[in-house]
Amino acid sequence: VVELGQPEHSAITTCAYCGVGCGFKAEMKGNEVVRMVPWKDGKANEGHACVKGRFAWGYATHKDRITSPMIRKSINDPWQEVSWEEAINYTASEFKRIQAKYGQDSVGALVSSRCTNEEGYLVQKLVRAAFGNNNVDTCARVCHSPTGYGLKQTLGESAGTQTFKSVEKSDVIMVIGANPTDGHPVFGSRMKKRLRAGAKLIVVDPRQIDLVKSPHIRSDFHLKLKPGTNVAIISALAHVVVTEGLVDEEFVKARCEMKSFNEWRDFVAKPENSPEAMETVTGVPAEQIRGAARLFATKGKNAAIYYGLGVTEHSQGSTMVMGIANLAMATGNVGREGVGVNPLRGQNNVQGSCDMGSFPHELPGYRHVSDATARSLFESAWNVELRAEPGLRIPNMLGAAVDGSFKALYCEGEDPVQSDPDTQHVAHALESMECVVVQDLFLNETAKYAHVFLPGASFLEKDGTFTNAERRISRVRKVMPPKAKYADWEVTQMLSNALGYPMNYKHPSEIMDEIAALTPTFKGVSFDKLDKLGSVQWPCNDEAPEGTPTMHIGSFVRGKGKFIITQYVPTDEKITPKYPLILTTGRILSQYNVGAQTRRTENVHWHSEDRLEIHPQDAEDRGIHEGDWVGIQSRSGSTVLRAIVTDKVQPGVVYTTFHFPESGANVITTDNSDWATNCPEYKVTAVQVLPVTQP
Ligand code: SF4
Repeated sequence: VVELGQPEHSAITTCAYCGVGCGFKAEMKGNEVVRMVPWKDGKANEGHACVKGRFAWGYATHKDRITSPMIRKSINDPWQEVSWEEAINYTASEFKRIQAKYGQDSVGALVSSRCTNEEGYLVQKLVRAAFGNNNVDTCARVCHSPTGYGLKQTLGESAGTQTFKSVEKSDVIMVIGANPTDGHPVFGSRMKKRLRAGAKLIVVDPRQIDLVKSPHIRSDFHLKLKPGTNVAIISALAHVVVTEGLVDEEFVKARCEMKSFNEWRDFVAKPENSPEAMETVTGVPAEQIRGAARLFATKGKNAAIYYGLGVTEHSQGSTMVMGIANLAMATGNVGREGVGVNPLRGQNNVQGSCDMGSFPHELPGYRHVSDATARSLFESAWNVELRAEPGLRIPNMLGAAVDGSFKALYCEGEDPVQSDPDTQHVAHALESMECVVVQDLFLNETAKYAHVFLPGASFLEKDGTFTNAERRISRVRKVMPPKAKYADWEVTQMLSNALGYPMNYKHPSEIMDEIAALTPTFKGVSFDKLDKLGSVQWPCNDEAPEGTPTMHIGSFVRGKGKFIITQYVPTDEKITPKYPLILTTGRILSQYNVGAQTRRTENVHWHSEDRLEIHPQDAEDRGIHEGDWVGIQSRSGSTVLRAIVTDKVQPGVVYTTFHFPESGANVITTDNSDWATNCPEYKVTAVQVLPVTQP
């Protein structure tokens, strides 16, 4: 730790990186961070932290921060610094002009799942009340939207079922498409502690993640499947459960819709879903699948499933989420500690942004915009008439921009040019718009296509709340003034006022009070309560005034749990002689997502570039050696990285991270997406990899 002096003031706040939501004491000297001390009373982390939350805060005071609003008439013009008043008035006049010329639906907004709950709530309110449409979306679209869909269908609530602490009661842990030690390190450590104490481990992943083989830990089964075959594996696991008498009949009979169970059981029992039939599809030996299923379904044991983007970011992402819920219900592993269906949310506030109605089809609290009763509640509170038909998702906005009907985008905290698939298409869509507004800390990749830049505020510069992967709502506290004068919620409010829809919040606590008044699961939440309790897990209401650590005890939120048939459908992304390898992607411990923050901190010394992992056999076939530059070509585009030759990946599969814009990971990903939610299929791209000279 580099000591920067004695702190003069401090506040308890919440890490702004991943969905674990660790509590920290931010110790400050004036407007400089002295250190971030993990908060021992933080329920998500209990005094622990990782290298991101602890050390990667330097971006907040980095020289690249933009602190003045800027506008330009054309993206080829230089930026002109302007006053806040001019920037807001210009933006409002452009949005009004565009709506007058092209129609009410020609504008929309994206709000990042890194923003606070209060900011997310205000952006969707701006869109619905001031823009007059439902064209609002969040980057949860491109990560965990299938979780929202799949868990709502089966269990009745779009959220994980447990607390993180619950893992301490698990006897068997199944990790599917997640890498907790890199992606969710503090929870990963908690899981490792339980594994060292004797819990069994099943890993379902195309790549050998650290949990498979690390000091004192060996997975009992590593189902090293071919990318894109998740649903085949879950069906094969379920086949073993139903054909070998491993169903928890008592639980299913008491808690689930029997008609749906019987149909599902008949489906998975078919010979084509057996491990033997699925062996050629998945590449996983049948006896391993059988062994894993028997272990998971051991009678009298607590078995928990933890999953990540390796489940959701597929053309069958929603199907797989439902398959996971089916397996948990069939084996009686829902509704108590130590079990459950646990999505490991990527960003700090993915759960919160979904809760806040940042989707084009849902009002806050997951109420569909076509629900007249819900609409009328918001209409009387907001004093507007709301639209009953869903708006445009991110890919639909981009598509409509290319087609010429979508002309203006307000983009708060997102960088779709780097983070969304098929970069060329995203750039072309943005170029086709007449007004792109970027609100961010830095001139990110999307700002290259912007006409207005509104400076954002870091988590140290504002008050609010984040909701982590276990539904825990925690306070974010301001420890320094916004570098550009205003917090993001204030900027949204100014824009709304300039557009003619009045907003007059004095403090984010007033926004939370409004959320609580309109959202049943947040009914008992207030800043005062959060100050008193430290944090609270929703649902928090009259029945559960101090929150709900474990969901679905006694009955499911939807009443009876519903089994849904999960038919495996191969992805359209096929390997061919021209593109013989499958590229899949993931994260590394020290960096975070598109790296806008972590690349501007000391953490860059741990990981200064993205590299491509390739199996020794594939490397030898191509004359590739460790450290060589390689060209990666897909049907969408190409990029160049340096190679790591390793058997962590299986033959036929290559892997990279996506933290640096110059690595161009999303230049090569495709526009395939989940059938239900349009979550992109980042995890399966057919590529060719060949040696190249240094670029
Ligand atoms: Fe922050 Fe996640 Fe690390 Fe905790 S585990 S310190 S929330 S990045």
